[in-house]
Amino acid sequence: MRIGVFVCECGTNIAATVSTGKVVDAALSMRDVLHAESIQYTCSDPGQRAVIDAIQKKGLTRVVIASCSPRMHENTFRRTVGRAGLNAYMMEMVNIREHCSWIHSDIDEATDKAIDLMQKGVARVRRQVPLHSTTVPVTKRVLVVGGGVAGIQAALDIADAGLPVTLVERGPSIGGNMARLDKTFPTLDCSSCILTPRMVEAAQHENIELMVSSEVEQVRGYIGNFDVDIRRKATCVDAEKCTGCMICQEKCPGKAPDEFNAGVGQSKAISIPFPQAVPLVAALRKEHCRLFIKGKCSVCKKVCPADAIDYEQEDRIETEKFGAIVVATGYELFDWRESYPDYGGGQYPDVVTALQYERMLSASGPNGGHVQRPSDGKEPKNVVFISCVGSRDESVGRPLCCSVGCMYIAKQAILTKEHIPDSQSYVFYIDIRAGGKGYEEFTRRAQRDFGAIYLRGRVGKIYPSNGNLVVMGTDTLSAEQVEIDADLVVLATGFAAAEGAGELARKLNISYDQYEFFSESHPKLRPVETTTGGVFLAGACQGPKDIPDTVAQASASAAKVIGLLSRGELETSPMVAAVNQMRCTGCFKCRDVCPYGAIEAVELRDGREVANVIDSLCQGCGVCNVACPPAVISLKGYTDGQLIAETMELLR
Ligand SMILES: Cc1cc2nc3c(=O)[nH]c(=O)nc-3n(C[C@H](O)[C@H](O)[C@H](O)COP(=O)(O)OP(=O)(O)OC[C@H]3O[C@@H](n4cnc5c(N)ncnc54)[C@H](O)[C@@H]3O)c2cc1C
Ligand code: SF4
Ligand code: SF4
Repeated sequence: MRIGVFVCECGTNIAATVSTGKVVDAALSMRDVLHAESIQYTCSDPGQRAVIDAIQKKGLTRVVIASCSPRMHENTFRRTVGRAGLNAYMMEMVNIREHCSWIHSDIDEATDKAIDLMQKGVARVRRQVPLHSTTVPVTKRVLVVGGGVAGIQAALDIADAGLPVTLVERGPSIGGNMARLDKTFPTLDCSSCILTPRMVEAAQHENIELMVSSEVEQVRGYIGNFDVDIRRKATCVDAEKCTGCMICQEKCPGKAPDEFNAGVGQSKAISIPFPQAVPLVAALRKEHCRLFIKGKCSVCKKVCPADAIDYEQEDRIETEKFGAIVVATGYELFDWRESYPDYGGGQYPDVVTALQYERMLSASGPNGGHVQRPSDGKEPKNVVFISCVGSRDESVGRPLCCSVGCMYIAKQAILTKEHIPDSQSYVFYIDIRAGGKGYEEFTRRAQRDFGAIYLRGRVGKIYPSNGNLVVMGTDTLSAEQVEIDADLVVLATGFAAAEGAGELARKLNISYDQYEFFSESHPKLRPVETTTGGVFLAGACQGPKDIPDTVAQASASAAKVIGLLSRGELETSPMVAAVNQMRCTGCFKCRDVCPYGAIEAVELRDGREVANVIDSLCQGCGVCNVACPPAVISLKGYTDGQLIAETMELLR
């Protein structure tokens, strides 16, 4: 056995805290280690060449690379040893950066730990055997979850490449939050004028199937071959028959909150959420319907000229196969009410969120674009905007920046002046974050050309006075307390993950952060991939984002999906489970627990029925290993022998 150990310095990332020379010396003192060296950057081209040279010149048969996280470079180094002619799996990586140099300051302790980890790697690689991949066919069909601008863009890009796409949207129409916006910064172009044609294109695209009022129920399978149960929720309207005439909505006596208008004004128990909805089909909300609450009404059924109303409709589950999944479930606004009692906690009707104000400004909004304050319908003259409500505020546990608040406040201040020329906007801000192209100029325009008065500081209190609101805050630039008599207060509330995001993440087996925004596989190198192969991210579901970034990310996800599915087959990892069939008792506990259906029963020549692993289905999760009562299943690359050897080496 001829083992080589390569200790990466990672510039000073490792070398400043770990004495790499000592790790090399320790390696050279180990049995079977014929070669050890430290390399400044092992992942660089010269670094990889040094590894290849040593393997070839010294005839190394196994390699340990002590460097960074395998998540970062395991594939890089597998390819490196493969290029040197070794089986790619005869390489073991140990992480002396994240596990040693980055978390310890004491050089001796960090070095001792790095030596331990290196020795553990040598013990493990000694018992490694060559492994070989197999291939599985891929399903050339894509699921996009969430029909906001991110989902629409991803679906269109993928469909244009010739792949069939199913776009699943939980609401009754696609469009997401962008459909609610009036104008968009920094160009002030009409949001629905840009979005509606894309929504219609998605609905008419021959490769896109729209499933609205639908949600993902369960996901099974793996990259290239997912089986997804989709819940098609009952809307009590036959989508095939509904003509979108809206007569039901007009005649329905059941009042309901207007979700599309962010709660400004009221809607009906049966409605089409907005005139440009796609599909233009009514949906009934049972929780507000008189027939379902009181047992009497049926007006909509009587008036519907298309006979589209069906109160008996029930949820149904459809199971579909997909090769890849794009998650684009977007965001919701942080519910500020409980956290900000000093702003009235939702008690003052004239304190609204920016999304509500967006609807008040919009020509398709509840007042046809005439800005009227909710309490008395009066046109507001003094409008106060407060930034960072539920963002950048540690005191309410929301330190994250919403990344668009500064920009949409500037936009709304400009639009306020356009709608009400004799109005005055005041903007309370912490600092102005205007990082995109043309953004800084835009916020300056709001001040210079549209007269918005910017006050640097936080608002301490809002209280009612003589039918108006008094906003008390501090102007930290002049160090003065300010009190503004406001007709309307607009809160730039922070972003929160879409409702149920954590639950969806668990169904998809992807990671999420403390705010339930989905985590990318690597923030710089794999920004649209998740830790689960074949599942990609697009838009604000990954974190707060503006529309340009959302669309760019959606197209990036689409490109990844197209690349993935352009191959007819996918190589599977050879690190799969294997059953010692001579010792298998045929209890099939392994088959019961395997989440991928990768265990089958086979009959041996002696007539015994035993378990067999279908390599192409096994994802190497290891669940069967634990469940097997006689412990006769092992995972290739993680055998009991290897794990025990590693442990013994550490305990020595
Ligand atoms: C007040 C305000 C003004 C703004 N103005 C601008 C602007 O002028 N310019 C700009 O660039 N950006 C602006 N933005 C930001 C913009 O809204 C976002 O960048 C954009 O909407 C993100 O799109 P998305 O598709 O990722 O998410 P969303 O628009 O949130 O869409 C997500 C979709 O997924 C659906 N969904 C959620 N969960 C599920 C599930 N489990 N299953 C199925 N479907 C699901 C939702 O119903 C929704 O339709 C503004 C934001 C706010 C709050
Ligand atoms: S009345 Fe019937 S056809 Fe018209 S929108 Fe309502 S459900 Fe659709
Ligand atoms: S049954 Fe009556 S309350 Fe219910 S949606 Fe139809 S019209 Fe509205």
